[in-house]
Amino acid sequence: MAPFLLVNPMAAKADFGFEITARMGGRTGGGGRAGVISTPHGLIETPAFVPVGTAAAVKGVTPEQMAGLGAQALLANAYHLYLRPGAEVVEAAGGLGAFMNWPGPTFTDSGGFQVLSLGAGFKKVLAMDTAGLADDQVIAKRSERLAKVDDDGVTFRSHLDGSSHRFTPEISMRVQHRLGADIIFAFDECTTLMNTRAYQERSVARTQAWAERCLVEHARLTEARVGRPPQALFGVVQGAQFEDLRRLAAAGLAHLTWDGAGFDGYGIGGALEKENLAAIVGWVCSELPESKPRHLLGISEIDDLFAAVEAGGDTFDCVAPSRSARHGAVYSPDGRYNVTRARFARDFGPLDPDCDCYTCLGYSRAYLHHLLRARELLGYTLATIHNERFIVRLVAAMRQAIESGGQAAFGRLRDDFLTRYFAP
Ligand SMILES: [Zn+2]
Repeated sequence: MAPFLLVNPMAAKADFGFEITARMGGRTGGGGRAGVISTPHGLIETPAFVPVGTAAAVKGVTPEQMAGLGAQALLANAYHLYLRPGAEVVEAAGGLGAFMNWPGPTFTDSGGFQVLSLGAGFKKVLAMDTAGLADDQVIAKRSERLAKVDDDGVTFRSHLDGSSHRFTPEISMRVQHRLGADIIFAFDECTTLMNTRAYQERSVARTQAWAERCLVEHARLTEARVGRPPQALFGVVQGAQFEDLRRLAAAGLAHLTWDGAGFDGYGIGGALEKENLAAIVGWVCSELPESKPRHLLGISEIDDLFAAVEAGGDTFDCVAPSRSARHGAVYSPDGRYNVTRARFARDFGPLDPDCDCYTCLGYSRAYLHHLLRARELLGYTLATIHNERFIVRLVAAMRQAIESGGQAAFGRLRDDFLTRYFAP
């Protein structure tokens, strides 16, 4: 495939912007759309999947390889970089992109999810193991609790060494300004489906108050940011599975301004039940201004991506393609399978005959099977390249369908793809 042009010279000095180039129309009432986000480090054609490099690296894959597989932007994590190597180190390197030698657009998430999930008494994954657990106490028993939320912020213990830290909206903004990503997120409280309705209500109010403090601090820091590229701030919509709370949260953020400026875009976060995902994204998008981009935090399952794009999502991130690759789970048009299974030991075909990635053009299932079983580092690299390419390419195909044929073309792509992907 042709090398990807990371930096558009025309956009090199541009501020942040978003232009809608096609609308899906049809029965979704104009929910899904295609567009272009411009940042000081280049353009992102949407819908787009944004691969995650948690600690300023996509594990085992170089920036050139990420560009080669079509990644337009990378997302790193403020919590991890704050703890190690420290935001001041990234700042001294010239910012996140310069630090990791990635010239294209970058995102950092606020750390809200991580301080609460990694630091916390939450179960390992939010919204898991909910059977029989229905109150706020269970989520974080006092004795085990590693993160404590109050109205001012979150005190948490590092998952690295147990040291105590505190994030407030202001501190998250200062950390993300030092990291210097093009798109940064407001500090939010991420709840789980286990939280009670009463807690979700308090949490939405708290996240709204934190969003306002983030806007104020972001404006102050932007003023002081002379001679450095401007950063775009996205507000984060929470509200779990409740329609009224999701709408309240989205409308609240949509109307929030400070010194005449509102959020540059919006993140949709928190616990999303699979069966409600399209509805939740639809409620939220109908409250948000159409002219601003919307990022879904942490989704990558194939059917979820189709549902989220159709409901109006523009960009998406998730660690799943790289994490599952390292465990041998690879995507194909016929579903995800594990290449470490015995039946692939002498299978000399590619991971996916329809794929155009570096791995599929040169390497066999048998070789990947061997590398991953032997824990050879190259196995992680090759499997990750394939999985990231598969998701990036799929979302790019959704964009193409919206651009060329709106709802009808998107619907055909979705039905054909999902029928084959989930065929027994
Ligand atoms: Zn491939």
